[in-house]
Amino acid sequence: MTSSGDFKYRRLLLKVSGEGFASEDATTLDTERVKVLASQLRALISSGVEVACVIGGGNILRGKQSEQLGIARATADYMGMLATIINGLALCDALEANGVPTRVMSSIDVHKVCEPFIRRRALRHMEKGRVVVLVGGLGSPYFTTDSTAAQRAVELGCDVLLKATMVDGVYDKDPKHHDDAVKLPDLTFDDVLARRLRVMDQTAFTLCSENDLPLVVFEMTSQDGVLRAARGEAIGTLIHN
Ligand code: UDP
Repeated sequence: MTSSGDFKYRRLLLKVSGEGFASEDATTLDTERVKVLASQLRALISSGVEVACVIGGGNILRGKQSEQLGIARATADYMGMLATIINGLALCDALEANGVPTRVMSSIDVHKVCEPFIRRRALRHMEKGRVVVLVGGLGSPYFTTDSTAAQRAVELGCDVLLKATMVDGVYDKDPKHHDDAVKLPDLTFDDVLARRLRVMDQTAFTLCSENDLPLVVFEMTSQDGVLRAARGEAIGTLIHN
């Protein structure tokens, strides 16, 4: 693996959950948060790091809400995938406003607003220094954008999956409910299974472990979290084989 500048990884995939884009009251997009992310991606691209970004849609809709909404699960999943396109377009706009060349590629055909996802074309964009924003999930219901992130990271030959979340790493128990929860900075995939820790859904987790793709779980809200994770600093939790 050849590093770029002071960054540890040559090509990385960043997964940002929809929550990372949500306003405080979770009713709309917080464009300030999107701008903070865009300026960090600009720094990565300027140093020659190749960047793909998978965007979630949970700030708008998740398939799991289907029952509560009275909508069939598969339909709600498609709605969730469409939500990721909305978030991806917001990130694309913020990146371009920062002078970062960007392409949005979707697994669902919406050719008026973005390109279809084609692996070789995505690789070419990254080689040319463009951020590739991957939206529309995998294009199939019953999956998540974590699974999308793991699958695309493997498919695109990324050195790492950086998973930006609202929690600053993996804990031995849920820190929201246990004051004595302890953060675990370094874990193997086997540790996660043996200790039954919750990191991401099973499909995503298996894709990472079986394909030897290291995963860093870290907090999205800080101003420089993405850059620190990309430098390989000890933030959040690193999970590896
Ligand atoms: N989704 C899907 N297939 C995919 C990716 C996403 O059906 O390949 C749907 C699913 O309903 C999911 C929603 O899109 O709940 C939004 O994605 P996700 O919940 O992963 O977003 P995040 O939690 O990262 O914001």
